[in-house]
Amino acid sequence: MGRLLKCSFCGKSEKQVARLIAGAHGHICDDCVGSCVAILAATPPHPLDDDSVLASLPACNAAVGAARDVLQRRVDDLRTRQVSWEQIGKALGVSRQAAWERFR
Ligand SMILES: [Zn+2]
Repeated sequence: MGRLLKCSFCGKSEKQVARLIAGAHGHICDDCVGSCVAILAATPPHPLDDDSVLASLPACNAAVGAARDVLQRRVDDLRTRQVSWEQIGKALGVSRQAAWERFR
């Protein structure tokens, strides 16, 4: 039996994460991709010229959309498992009502 693949960032094995994406020299799990997106969104990049910032917008926009899709699919999955809006809201740090309105 081969060794389990692991996320190169957090060390979780392929059995502990929903998705593990292969790279040339390592792997990254879906949770770490989400963390990376959040970090990129929250921290100012080093100064770039206008054209470089403009050129980065499509990839940034695609990443935001992809992250939103991942979040929605996870919430949908939890609802399929009968997990309550109360629990989902608590996990996201919002009210039951806010979670329901955002993801129903
Ligand atoms: Zn990871």
